[in-house]
Amino acid sequence: MSRIRNFRRITRTLRFRLTLGYTLFFCLMLIAVGAIFWQKLATSLDAQIRDGLEQEWAAAKGYLRIEKGVPTWYFDHYDPDESLMVGRIQRVYMLADAQGNVLQMSETYKSIGADSHADIAAVMRSPQPGWKVRKNDKGVSFLIHAGAIYDEDHDKEYFLAIGRSLADNHLILDQFTWTYIGVIPLVIVSGCLLGWFLAARALTPVLEVAQAANRISGSNLSLRIPSRGAGDELDYLIVTFNRMITRLENSFNQMRQFSTDVSHELRTPITAIRGQLEVALFTGSTIEQYREAMLNSLQDIERLSQIVRALLLLSQAESGQLALQKTRLDLCRLVADVVDQFQIPYEEARLRLSADLPQECCAEADRIQIERMISNLLSNAMKFTPAGGEVRVRLRNEGQEVELVVEDTGRGIAPDHLPHIFDRFYRMPGHDASDPERGLGLGLSFVAWIAKAHQGTVRVESTPGEGSRFTVLLPAATNSSHAAEGAGIPVASGMKET
Ligand code: ADP
Repeated sequence: MSRIRNFRRITRTLRFRLTLGYTLFFCLMLIAVGAIFWQKLATSLDAQIRDGLEQEWAAAKGYLRIEKGVPTWYFDHYDPDESLMVGRIQRVYMLADAQGNVLQMSETYKSIGADSHADIAAVMRSPQPGWKVRKNDKGVSFLIHAGAIYDEDHDKEYFLAIGRSLADNHLILDQFTWTYIGVIPLVIVSGCLLGWFLAARALTPVLEVAQAANRISGSNLSLRIPSRGAGDELDYLIVTFNRMITRLENSFNQMRQFSTDVSHELRTPITAIRGQLEVALFTGSTIEQYREAMLNSLQDIERLSQIVRALLLLSQAESGQLALQKTRLDLCRLVADVVDQFQIPYEEARLRLSADLPQECCAEADRIQIERMISNLLSNAMKFTPAGGEVRVRLRNEGQEVELVVEDTGRGIAPDHLPHIFDRFYRMPGHDASDPERGLGLGLSFVAWIAKAHQGTVRVESTPGEGSRFTVLLPAATNSSHAAEGAGIPVASGMKET
């Protein structure tokens, strides 16, 4: 039972299948090559014999005289060539008159049997001598060249047939076939062994890669498969695999960081609520003290639910559950509206907010998400720009794209922090946990996700102490999307200062 299982296991291996395929291919090639050679050999042997018979036929016409029905061979008996030729012709030959009466016939021809009257008549009718294969009583085949010869002196036609044994040809072909068949198993066995060995050589590195890959687990994602330096397909596979592990490691690290951040974010307000309630419970004596503790706790609870809401939204967005409702959107109008909403908070923070908008600027986008994106950028700019500063919003058509820029004269972002500000929960140091201005560190993650979900990009340039510029590029609406245009989209005014 276990032997059968072992055999099945081996037959499923790539090594076995490669060897089998290789051997089968080898066999087919061998059979095809053998068949072609056999055919070529048979054709050339046949052509050789036919050439000889044609020469003999022509010579026979010259040497043969038939006087009053008696055939006589005229040739120089002292000439070895002529004697040889006549001797060869006379080995297998038959001469008959037009009526089919045999005039002369060699012993060998007798073993084949004289041609029938009907056959002779058919040959005499044909303008050219013909070919046929006949067997003698021992089963030996002969190629016969038969036709009419004309006796001009007596104006008579005779039937002449000469032939040659095909036994030698058959012997050569049989020898070739059996030698070839004898060699095939040898070739197959050596082909199998070679295939098995080559497959093992080709697959050993694959097994090594698999073993190395096996050692990589969630807890040691820092392991890499060493490259063999051969620069072949396997090295390419190793490089690709290593890159995949790097990506996995990054996502694992991000996930780990994310859970640490989330627990930290949730723990801070929970600890605060607990502390306030404990203090009120054990030391509070007046209604005012209880009220204050409850108010503070409510603020922290609000922050908690803000975090939970934001996390839920982000996870929905990243898992693709947040479907975008794209329509042809008049961005000029939308930006103007959001900027309007921010005017009062900006005034309270003693900041100037202006918008530079073109005549028309449309994108195929989700209104709610784009509004959220602009709001996040504007609230960041407000938070991180000191009083007296200025924030400018600019919208521009850039060919196939729409460019939205939010530029401030705030505190800027140090180059070390720039690559991380789009990460979840990333905040630049400077605000401690009790700071009311301290955000969740999720705003820019949303901005990045919204831009990406619209096949757009977002980039940031910043100089510490001078200000930051966030640039969002979104694909512009195509003309074909006019049909979907909302009925009430008004044409935006020119340059708008708010
Ligand atoms: P937060 O909720 O803290 O604003 P964000 O993801 O929106 O989170 O921003 C991440 C960090 O990027 C902020 O904590 C801040 O340090 C920095 N940042 C974002 N926008 C600006 C800006 N306009 N000027 C300076 N720093 C900024």
